[in-house]
Amino acid sequence: MNPRAGILVTGTEVLTGIITDRNGPWLSERLIEIGVDTEVIQIVGDRPDDLLAALEFMRSQGVALIVTSGGLGPTADDLTAEVVGRFAGREMVLDGRLEERIAEILRPMMTRWPSLDPGAIRASNRKQAVIPRGATVLDPVGTAPGLVVPPEDGAGPTVVVLPGPPRELHPMWRMAAQTDALQAAIAGAPTYRHGIARLFGIPESEIANTLREAEAAGLSLDGLEVTTCLRRGEIEVSIRYEPPSQEAYDKLMGFIKSRHGDTLFSEDGSTIDEQVATMLTGHRIAVAESSTGGMLAARLTDRPGASAYFMGGLIVYSNEAKVSLAGVDPELIERFGAVSGEVAIALAQGAIERLNADIGVGITGIAGPDGGSEDKPVGTVCFSVKLRDGPDITRTARLPGGRADVRDRSTTVALHLVRRLLRGETDVQLPGTRDRAPRLSAERP
Ligand code: ATP
Ligand code: MG
Repeated sequence: MNPRAGILVTGTEVLTGIITDRNGPWLSERLIEIGVDTEVIQIVGDRPDDLLAALEFMRSQGVALIVTSGGLGPTADDLTAEVVGRFAGREMVLDGRLEERIAEILRPMMTRWPSLDPGAIRASNRKQAVIPRGATVLDPVGTAPGLVVPPEDGAGPTVVVLPGPPRELHPMWRMAAQTDALQAAIAGAPTYRHGIARLFGIPESEIANTLREAEAAGLSLDGLEVTTCLRRGEIEVSIRYEPPSQEAYDKLMGFIKSRHGDTLFSEDGSTIDEQVATMLTGHRIAVAESSTGGMLAARLTDRPGASAYFMGGLIVYSNEAKVSLAGVDPELIERFGAVSGEVAIALAQGAIERLNADIGVGITGIAGPDGGSEDKPVGTVCFSVKLRDGPDITRTARLPGGRADVRDRSTTVALHLVRRLLRGETDVQLPGTRDRAPRLSAERP
């Protein structure tokens, strides 16, 4: 059996929902990478008894490893190190070298804030240098050192103690994973391979069917751990396996491909964002967005090198802005409505012309919560992707969920349409979308 771990997220601000936990899920993904299964993620407030009780519970479950986040700072409510010391049966001792290291980190801060009380700083500095005897120290990324604390008697879990701020926790986890103390705790963990397939435009139930049929067709799925989930309107099939199951993995991937060739867009785990970015090499894209308010532009620019292909975006929420910024003919809006395929094409064309691009994207829709009508309910979004002087793909979708879902999914649909356009697949049928009618070109004199 794989070694198992518990993750203990501390912080009253996380427990009460003021801050959303980002460390538990992140750590769980990292643990999987090193062959450790997370058994439980628990969130507790900054109370020593609660911390201790959670640690005891995880020990009672027989986990090999516990990773904690938070409570390593200099203030009195930061007490994780001390509680973990008690839990591991280790005496707390002052580490002189660590004290000097923290002082070094604090020195520039003290010169910048000369009014700070040096005595108080020294005291809190010292507090952070008091650690369980025998612990491996992880060099601070902020001011708080992390720790890897093995059990005193060799039985029970090893505890990795990390700071709360994610930008500190991430690099310090990587340091922790390299330590002998952690490696010893998870000795025997299998080395996994991990594959991801992504599909767009089919319901999740279809994939469940495919997996059943794969087994019915005699494929062995033993040795493959398959997890499917819906993410940003796409289906993600994640498959974890050990090297001897490579053949079973290849066969399953082949089976999925044979059944879902038109909707399977990624077999190597690449995201639609990565794929579109690669395909845009040598192109110039621009967007004109209404209901998504710039979110597609944000997604397209969230990549290194985006300035090579992304010209810019127009946020045209009001009809006035659609006309003045994107050059949409006001008569089109009058005749078909602002949420229409016709206006979406005009937006795409406007983006191309105003921003001197060779690909334009127009999005106009009703993200809600109000503004819907009987024939255009909330969630109705019209998309057009268009090549300058070339074909377009224009579709209307009815997207489920609340405002945030509709907006987020809209960006996913738009990226998939860009991909199809760049592949020359302009007559693509995307389930859940319909062709806009009538065609604008037929309307024009
Ligand atoms: P510090 O020295 O900053 O106090 P710390 O290790 O004591 O470090 P905490 O006091 O628990 O960490 O958290 C500090 C801040 O880090 C929180 O206010 C929050 O902004 C962020 N943070 C902590 N835990 C989490 C978490 N689980 N998810 C997201 N952000 C977190
Ligand atoms: Mg703190």
